[in-house]
Amino acid sequence: MNFSSKLLENAVAEFAKLPGVGQKTALRLVLHLLNRDKQEVQQFSTAISKLRNEIQFCQTCHNISDRQICEICASHKRDHSLICVVEDTRDVMAIENTNQYNGVYHVLGGLISPMDGIGPADLQVDSLVERLKDNAVKEVIFALSATMEGDTTIFYLNKKLKQFTINISTIARGIAFGGELEYVDEITLGRSIVTRVPYENSLS
Ligand SMILES: [Zn+2]
Repeated sequence: MNFSSKLLENAVAEFAKLPGVGQKTALRLVLHLLNRDKQEVQQFSTAISKLRNEIQFCQTCHNISDRQICEICASHKRDHSLICVVEDTRDVMAIENTNQYNGVYHVLGGLISPMDGIGPADLQVDSLVERLKDNAVKEVIFALSATMEGDTTIFYLNKKLKQFTINISTIARGIAFGGELEYVDEITLGRSIVTRVPYENSLS
């Protein structure tokens, strides 16, 4: 692309770094911003820089949060004896949207994937084990994608958590193999949490 302005070119180059955004789309977005009020564009850029600079991860569950302890972990209305293990913050949002779950979460920050060089040490595994040590937790629910990576991660975590006398369950897999949690509709996901099954039984 031949740009008439270096400023335009730089802005397009930044947008084009976003996933799924090519040069043409980046140009369209930048031209759109140029048509907006200066104040609106300022709000847009402030929101992004504040997001990056001020966001925190909950010290307990590692979910994205505005505080050191997220609202869910801080809530007395939630059942803290129930921990739902998920891959990332999108899964927390999806499960919260179902209104079928009143426990707390543990966000792993990814799934074990030898192909991508992601091992247990790259995930929030140790802190999950720590959370179980005071014996206040009665059940851990795995709500991970029904993919090879999801299954590998559950298998690993199950072995790791066996030392504790807790129930280990997995959400019912009405979800097709290869299904990503965030794409499952709320009713199906809500039902799969309510009808969760003991992990050992899910293997047969
Ligand atoms: Zn939290």
